[in-house]
Amino acid sequence: MKYSPVEANKILKEHEFNFKKKFGQNFIVDENIIDNIIKKTDIKEDSLVIEVGPGSGALTYKLCAKANRVLCFEIDKTLEKILKNNLREFNNVDIVFEDFLQVDLKKELKKYNYKHLYLVANLPYYITTPIITKVIEQDIDIDKMVVMVQKEVGERFSAKVNTKHYNSLSVFLQYHFDIHKIMDVSRNVFVPKPNVDSEVVEFVKKEKIKTNNLDKFYSLVKDSFNQKRKNLRNNLKSYDLEKIELILKKYGYDLTARAEQLSIDIFIDISNNL
Ligand code: SAM
Repeated sequence: MKYSPVEANKILKEHEFNFKKKFGQNFIVDENIIDNIIKKTDIKEDSLVIEVGPGSGALTYKLCAKANRVLCFEIDKTLEKILKNNLREFNNVDIVFEDFLQVDLKKELKKYNYKHLYLVANLPYYITTPIITKVIEQDIDIDKMVVMVQKEVGERFSAKVNTKHYNSLSVFLQYHFDIHKIMDVSRNVFVPKPNVDSEVVEFVKKEKIKTNNLDKFYSLVKDSFNQKRKNLRNNLKSYDLEKIELILKKYGYDLTARAEQLSIDIFIDISNNL
């Protein structure tokens, strides 16, 4: 079967599939969007692609045609027959019917040999951030992630210093990845149609890890943004403020600065010298 949105919809109807809001089920029905996602992922040889939430397999179909191996995690067991049918021409796909957040990902990945690891997904919106932070916290060495997310969440992921959406999550994620928006996606290309627009965001692994204590760095960033309207003097009361001020001076700031003014490199410098 060549995947087509019309075909996919027909199959969903035939199987009397009921969309489950609680699982964030909004399936893509625009092949151009899928093709763009695949193109941007730039899947190399010897690759393993993780997909969270294959749904009816629209994206999975094209991933299977491109990657050596595709490993999917799907929480909704009622999609099993549909997925089997839609992906029947491929033997390079494994589908684990489990909650991705509960999976021991390191253990799952040990079963595979690969040179490049990607994560590509139209993510369930209710757990977008936990999915991405899980990959980081489990220390999964991923080359690239290309994910469809709710527009305003994507804006936070890629927000730059001194902009409205820049927060501790932006710093945390951008410490590990270069993050860019690839394209805006209208709510009209999903079935059922969600209440929000989306965007596709690319995360490319950064090579150099520069802090000497990652936990200390995370705590500093979290505390600095604790109360967004307050300045660093107020948010970092329990820290050695004299030391912090000395470092800030190098960059032309003092303790009246707010967290949103500090680049990742300044946070790294402070945390490495505390
Ligand atoms: N990839 C499909 C597409 O683009 O048409 C479906 C995307 S839909 C936005 C999200 C998918 O994630 C659904 O299939 C849903 O059942 C699945 N899902 C939701 N929560 C999940 C979880 N905790 N673990 C794994 N899959 C989950």
